[in-house]
Amino acid sequence: MTGLVSIDGELTPAAEARVPVFDRGFLYGDSVYEVVRTYLGVPFHLERHLDRLERSGAALELRLPPRATLVAWIKAALRQAANPESYLRLVVTRGSGPISLDPTTAEGPRTVLLVRPLAPYPAWMYARGIAVAIPAIRRNARAALDPAVKSGNYLNNVLALGQARRAGFDDALLLDVHGRVAEGSSSNVFCVRGRELSTPPLETGLLQGVTRALVLALAPEAGLEPRERELRVEDLAAADEVWLTSTLREVLPVVRLDEATIGGGQPGPCFQAMAALFGERALAWARAAGPDFWREP
Ligand code: PMP
Repeated sequence: MTGLVSIDGELTPAAEARVPVFDRGFLYGDSVYEVVRTYLGVPFHLERHLDRLERSGAALELRLPPRATLVAWIKAALRQAANPESYLRLVVTRGSGPISLDPTTAEGPRTVLLVRPLAPYPAWMYARGIAVAIPAIRRNARAALDPAVKSGNYLNNVLALGQARRAGFDDALLLDVHGRVAEGSSSNVFCVRGRELSTPPLETGLLQGVTRALVLALAPEAGLEPRERELRVEDLAAADEVWLTSTLREVLPVVRLDEATIGGGQPGPCFQAMAALFGERALAWARAAGPDFWREP
């Protein structure tokens, strides 16, 4: 295990980092988290990720350390790691406690920050596009465990991805219990038809992706009309293009959905336009945001 870990602000090499077995994150998945990546060493839209972490924490009544503390820990870890670009995983658990489901017995938050050199997705995925399966398992219902909450309980997605991988696919797309398209195992989904760029609405039950919001906002500049609307598998199968979006993937083209070939079976021109625009804007963002991020409080 390479990388650097900060536990409540204390930095250790990843191989030496330890969390008590009584931590509720380990026992129950009782935690919230974010994955952030850097561009030019600056954590991309960190404020949006921290906003979401706070929303996830509030939904679970899980108290987080103050935002300024989290940011200070992140800066210290990034400085020490000194990676060209970093992958950051920020996990806040409800802390240790007696073996009891009762959240009121928890001893308070524990923050684990993992920093590793960024490992980009393989280039062939962007050049050739990926194959995505729609496994039988459905996305958690909002009334059960709202997918908008980014919690440490990812079994739904783990099982979906496992089913897809065993069937020889690169990733999984999850439908909700009504058969509507929800999201990827760790990504949001878009489809292009003509000039229309569609993605399922938050009401379907999905994570409000940071990348999803950026792609929606960039759509007009890429010559596309953004729309949030309910999508069915048939809509995706009949689309010109299908993409997955996430912090680590940015925009990734899908060329096969179960047995259906999407578009011409190759990454399409709208994907090319959006991917180029996204990459360019991410760097511009980092150039502008860097000085503020590194400024001492
Ligand atoms: N949906 C799920 C279930 C995810 O795990 C992720 C990755 N965080 C996303 C969507 C994409 O979100 P983002 O663009 O903020 O990385």
